[in-house]
Amino acid sequence: MINHLDMPTVLFLQKTSYIAGALTLGYLRLTSAESRGVGLLAASFIILATGSTLAGYAEVHPALYGPLSLINIVLAVLGYCMLGLAFIVISNPDRKIYTTHILIPAALTLATGLITAFHLNNTYRATTFTFLGCLTMAATAVVVFLDAHREPLPIRKLIAAILAAASLLSLVMGLEFSFNAFPLLDVASGFFLMILSKFVLAIAIVIFISERQHIKIKHLADHDALTGLYNRRFFNANTPSQPGHGDAILYLDIDHFKQLNDRWGHAAGDEVLATMARAMKSILPQSALLARQGGEEFIVFLPAKAGDALLHAERIRQAVAELRYPTLGAEMTVTTSIGIARAVQEHAELSDLCREADRALYLAKAAGRNRVCDAELNSVPEHCRRLG
Ligand code: GH3
Ligand code: MG
Ligand code: MG
Repeated sequence: MINHLDMPTVLFLQKTSYIAGALTLGYLRLTSAESRGVGLLAASFIILATGSTLAGYAEVHPALYGPLSLINIVLAVLGYCMLGLAFIVISNPDRKIYTTHILIPAALTLATGLITAFHLNNTYRATTFTFLGCLTMAATAVVVFLDAHREPLPIRKLIAAILAAASLLSLVMGLEFSFNAFPLLDVASGFFLMILSKFVLAIAIVIFISERQHIKIKHLADHDALTGLYNRRFFNANTPSQPGHGDAILYLDIDHFKQLNDRWGHAAGDEVLATMARAMKSILPQSALLARQGGEEFIVFLPAKAGDALLHAERIRQAVAELRYPTLGAEMTVTTSIGIARAVQEHAELSDLCREADRALYLAKAAGRNRVCDAELNSVPEHCRRLG
């Protein structure tokens, strides 16, 4: 079927693909907050479409062939450099990029054209265009693939594969133009596949941005913004509703936190919450699920395999008491009270366990704060302990 396409149809399709791609990407750029680099990619498509249109005009207006074909190759170089850069930025939006540098290859092409008039030769022009496409797409395929370490989105590998395939296609076309022999692909088929790759790339970028947004939104939905810990919603959704025998809940509440806020201000209070969260996270075993329950309260699910809940709680209490906060003065300390409840039989209800831990916490407060109270010790305040 491809063989039946004539060159004017192929050029028309090429232009259409660039414009459709640019419109899709432009829409994405306007509607998405995570779209750094997408505008640049849309711009590269427009520049490539303009170059392709001028190439068409050059064929039918022989008088303008010289200037139009020079502009065509300069725009092609600029468009491909922008396309490569756009993928590099989209792949990692935090990357530092000097956008103006992409003007250098275009300026060099313009200067070379003015000096040597190489653009008047169709073969030279096509070869430059295809080899540059080959290089930029191969380089961007590598960058997009390697960035998976930083952000392993599933669509990444597909984009890298399409870029690599498009690069290979450009290489084949470039070699065929150079030797003026087309044993593998005729010109129309080559262009047709290039057009297809641009369409697929535009759609893949839409999926890429949507995957990135989905992960970000999921992270926001699961985490507490101040401490970075999981939030109560995540905790409830990911803790077994019927914990097994020996699984424990720890309920933590900072002591006299209101006084701290009143004295040092809420910013200082926030710093204490964040510092404490980091410390608790580093102390608890991997298998524990720590979350900010709300305000100055934290909750931990400790599976039985994590070991003695009382020892873990006491380690946290001690570590918190030893924390220092430079902005509150060198000697300033903050303490926490902790209530523990353990599932004594298989399939205890989580809600009962939380209620028990809350009751134990209340007893720890009543017993004088800065201590751990175990609901199992059935619990007169004297049982609340401070080990060590
Ligand atoms: P207790 O020892 O009995 O727990 O006393 P407390 O002062 O810690 O408890 P109370 O419930 O009276 O006060 C809790 C305070 O925690 C009140 C509220 O302003 C503060 N708080 C809650 N969330 C935040 C927050 O995100 N940042 C800051 N800075 N303060 C918070
Ligand atoms: Mg409280
Ligand atoms: Mg408190």
